[in-house]
Amino acid sequence: MQETCNRGLSLQQEYGVFMLTSIYVDHAATTPVDPRVLEAMRPFFMSHFGNPSSAHSVGAAARQAIEKARSRIAELISAAPEEVYFTSGGTEADNLAMKGYSLANSAKGRHIIVSSIEHHAVLHSAETLHKLDFEVSIVPVDGFGYVDPQDVKRALRKDTILISVMHANNEVGTLQDVAEIGRIAKEAGIIFHTDAVQTAGSIPVDVNELGVDMLSLSAHKFYGPKGIGALYVRNGIRIIPLLDGGAQEHGFRAGTENVPAIVGMGVAAQLAQMEMASRSMHISQLRDLLIDDILHLDPNIALNGHRQKRLPGNVSICLGKTPYQESLEALNSKGICASTGSACTSHAAKPSHVLTAMGIPPEKAMSVLRFTFGKANTETDVEGIVEELHNIMKSASKPFRYVSTTRDSAQIRQSSEDKATITVDVRGFYCPVPVLKTKEVFDSMTIGDTLQVIADDPAAESDLQNWITFTGQRAIGVQRRDSEICFLIKKIGDIL
Ligand code: PLP
Repeated sequence: MQETCNRGLSLQQEYGVFMLTSIYVDHAATTPVDPRVLEAMRPFFMSHFGNPSSAHSVGAAARQAIEKARSRIAELISAAPEEVYFTSGGTEADNLAMKGYSLANSAKGRHIIVSSIEHHAVLHSAETLHKLDFEVSIVPVDGFGYVDPQDVKRALRKDTILISVMHANNEVGTLQDVAEIGRIAKEAGIIFHTDAVQTAGSIPVDVNELGVDMLSLSAHKFYGPKGIGALYVRNGIRIIPLLDGGAQEHGFRAGTENVPAIVGMGVAAQLAQMEMASRSMHISQLRDLLIDDILHLDPNIALNGHRQKRLPGNVSICLGKTPYQESLEALNSKGICASTGSACTSHAAKPSHVLTAMGIPPEKAMSVLRFTFGKANTETDVEGIVEELHNIMKSASKPFRYVSTTRDSAQIRQSSEDKATITVDVRGFYCPVPVLKTKEVFDSMTIGDTLQVIADDPAAESDLQNWITFTGQRAIGVQRRDSEICFLIKKIGDIL
């Protein structure tokens, strides 16, 4: 059934969105809300709409629901309910831990330690603290993205007040030895925060076993809604709020609570706890299957991150030569939704800080793809991914023909490069054949032929674009240099 969103309009009519999803493997970016979670949230938009601070029964109902959710989240991480503070997500939880703790305790010292592969929510918070005269030590990782706890120990100083090392990395999936870092921190009497956004709700997280004092969680990573998270703060630790206002969340976080989202997070946590073993077994089987199949595809493909100390659903690979933009596009055109690593940096045209910290050279880092499985994925999905990766690897190594144009001619050439460029001067082009027939002309050409290309009016620009679309090739980049339009076209040889 087609989903409608507003006055009977389809999502496409209302927002112009078009989604082709046959295989979603980007669960580290976000997960769909579990229908049971949505059902639990529903009353809190309508009949149970109260403000939890209100002193009447409608407010009390909302308040009770929040406390129930708090208990469920506390249970997921073996904490006490009063140690759980709701935030707007993992980012705010990280910010609250880093800035809220450091600013409240700066009289004890102004040195903090983070790892080089933290999420930007932690790293940028550390940068802000640095601007506020805190000193920051960044501990390195090895080639697997693993932090040696002894490096953390070596970075300790007399004025260190906080250590923050993530439980598992969102890009390459490597799990850290948080319990050992917790032991070192405790021995030194220093507060230890871990970003457990990728682990809480996916694998067992026990704040006491891990020896952490603060821990960040985010609901949308475990089938809860977006825009809601929590920070665990061990009893007795002092932090200052980032937001000033009302006394909500015991004064740690002002603002009327997002009751439906909090309820949803609570139910998602409960379901995650109940189903953790089976979900985790299922997705780790898919992960291992995909890793084995991919590594057999081509000797140039390498696995990123640790083979054993790894999140159950994470497969991160270097494809070798093929830039990630092209592979993601090819996958996306088949309805396979994967990622390059961090959703937050996937538009940035430089290698992520995580891959750089692991010592992966830039050209390899730019070919990284990440597949992260969820509970609805199947072995058939793995087969579909492997098949498409096989096609991508095949087309990357195949020589192909391409069109080379000068100011007034186009020439078909052979190339082993994986990109071709068509350059059209829209001002000065002249050709005896109408531009709308360009496709037929190209079709009739063979290697070495030349032709003149018409583009004597601005419409030619869109004609050429149409031709590219018409032939089923996607322009993977359009650059403009003065009067030139350059289309970078993938696999053009297939249609010539
Ligand atoms: N920390 C890690 C490790 C993450 O993977 C993410 C999100 O991808 C965040 C923090 C931020 O969480 P949120 O999206 O809830 O703000």
